[in-house]
Amino acid sequence: MKLRAVLSACILLLPALITGMSARAQETAAEWAVTTINEREYYSLEQLRSFYKLRPIDTASPHLHTIGNSSFRLVFNTQSMELIVAGYRCRLSHPIIKSNNGELLISKTDFVKLIDPILRPTYIAERREVRTVVIDPGHGGSDPGNKSEWLCEADCTLNIALALARELEKRGLHVILTRNTDQDLADAERVRTAREAPAAIFISLHVNSGRSDIRGIETYTAAPLEPNSRALEAHRHDAANIALAFALHSHVLNSTNAADGACRRSHYSLLNTVNCPAALVQVGYATHKQEASALAGNDYRAELVTGLADGIAAFCSAISVKAELKPSRPEEEAVTLPAPKPKPAAPTPKKDDKSNKNKKQNKRKPTPTKPRRRRR
Ligand SMILES: [Zn+2]
Repeated sequence: MKLRAVLSACILLLPALITGMSARAQETAAEWAVTTINEREYYSLEQLRSFYKLRPIDTASPHLHTIGNSSFRLVFNTQSMELIVAGYRCRLSHPIIKSNNGELLISKTDFVKLIDPILRPTYIAERREVRTVVIDPGHGGSDPGNKSEWLCEADCTLNIALALARELEKRGLHVILTRNTDQDLADAERVRTAREAPAAIFISLHVNSGRSDIRGIETYTAAPLEPNSRALEAHRHDAANIALAFALHSHVLNSTNAADGACRRSHYSLLNTVNCPAALVQVGYATHKQEASALAGNDYRAELVTGLADGIAAFCSAISVKAELKPSRPEEEAVTLPAPKPKPAAPTPKKDDKSNKNKKQNKRKPTPTKPRRRRR
């Protein structure tokens, strides 16, 4: 009762974009006109727009195809594999393409295993009560991970993981850490901990590294199963995986104002082999002076912890919705997503700074029509 009360309170404070594709949505999708190109199935963006009852929105760029309603927008970039959902960047599995008659097409994989799970959390087929959150601080012991003059990845992830565990326990969730000290830990051990945990989700924490001008939070989940591909353990949770990753990504960006490094797919063996919904969050770049300095401080880590906990709570609430509470027809469910929060001005970004590109992109995002709810 306590957990349910806590989660009910939390969901009101959070972006309502969580869960996944359901069998019902697959049935609905099966009724759509399918275009097959190079053995891959596609739906038209017009079908998608009509299905979600969204309207076309004019944009200045010929490469951006935007649809939306009064609360959120989907922005498809026809020159990249990027989709922006309610202001948050997501990488598609396949590019948007044009049919012979000029229609824009999106792959069935991206509709079924990315867009629908994010837009319609109550339709995820995999209903479960999440009883355990397995938090995995990356690296440790003789493997420090990425290091810079500002921080050490293994120490940073452990610090955040310990604080996140305390926060989740306060909210009534049971937490297991794959490590709680600076120790060596093989991926197989991390996977085993997740496998042995009852009704779990798995969150792995890491710190990125790259060029000194690159920064931002990137959230990964396993690449979904494609037709004619070999099924992996992770594919049983395709819809829940992206729902979890998007919930984490959106809430962490919301709480930190960090640059949006996108919600992405990966082939990390760790994510492919755990047997529960799983995501990996790269909480920032050890090699970006400002971001790494912030990551080394308590204030920014507290914001990260709040965002991670909010994302986990939102996902847990969405995936535990009882089937009988679902609307009787897909069309009856309103699709309402939060608008992005305006980003603060950046202190003298470099010309080719990735975060600067994100800010330029944010200018094309819709003006918030609903105040974004925040926990601070
Ligand atoms: Zn790492």
